[in-house]
Amino acid sequence: MSIIESLRPFERNRIYDMVYAAGVDVSDWDNSKKGKVKNPAANPKYCYNWSFVEPGKVVVLNLWHDDLKEQDGDVTDEWNAREIAERGRSSVTKARAMAMDHAIQLAFKEKLPIRVVLCEGTKRNRNDPDSAASKVSFRFLDSEPWHVARYESGSGQCTLMRGLGGSANRYVDQFDMPVPEGGPAQKVPVKGSTHIRRPEVRRFALDRANGKCEYCGAVGFTMTNGQVYLETHHVVPLHEQGPDSVGNVVALCPNHHREAHHGNNRVEIRKKLQHKLASLAPNNSLQARRP
Ligand SMILES: [Zn+2]
Ligand SMILES: [Zn+2]
Repeated sequence: MSIIESLRPFERNRIYDMVYAAGVDVSDWDNSKKGKVKNPAANPKYCYNWSFVEPGKVVVLNLWHDDLKEQDGDVTDEWNAREIAERGRSSVTKARAMAMDHAIQLAFKEKLPIRVVLCEGTKRNRNDPDSAASKVSFRFLDSEPWHVARYESGSGQCTLMRGLGGSANRYVDQFDMPVPEGGPAQKVPVKGSTHIRRPEVRRFALDRANGKCEYCGAVGFTMTNGQVYLETHHVVPLHEQGPDSVGNVVALCPNHHREAHHGNNRVEIRKKLQHKLASLAPNNSLQARRP
């Protein structure tokens, strides 16, 4: 079975549930101009939209399964929402297409992961102004995140591609979260001076860990937007003058991160992690990975 065939929708899920599962705040679906709505999932202000945005986190797009193409194992969808907006006859179609174009541009600019709702049904004939509106029979949320592989700012033509493909980071840590625990994370005050945690060091450790805790090997959990979460940790803490280098930073599951700080076996954990980092040398350097 081809990848595309395996992605054919066969169930009919509610947009509300999928958008929520993808990490978009749906609390406003409760409200309409007239006040509280009885059935938020059917709120017409939202449920017919083609795209949804959670700023800084994720973009959700409805795509037709019919439009998918496969090339060398890559699943893509060529889109031009702007063109649809220009040609659309109703103001509602125009507005939804423009919103979709904006969402794609945002995902492209900010390298946000995209979650895709794949739809199947009767597509409206765009060349026939009298054809009936599209009707979705089946739809589901693709478990794999997507990204914008190409966006032509002049025309709005774009290529959406399944997988994160290096445009958005597959692996993230506590400092990538919108509101890091314990306040601003980049700066750690140390005896009057300030230590910076270099993003390239964290990124290197996350890539090296490949989504698995470098202490126990457990896979980090997958977030609503499709990224995999671990926590980066200085084996010798910055306040003990540990260096902010890839030879001193590991990626841990949240449980072992806490344990490395507060467990009664934290000395042992530190030793094991130091041993592990030492065994990785000499490939364990930022320079070694640079092209
Ligand atoms: Zn662990
Ligand atoms: Zn730590």
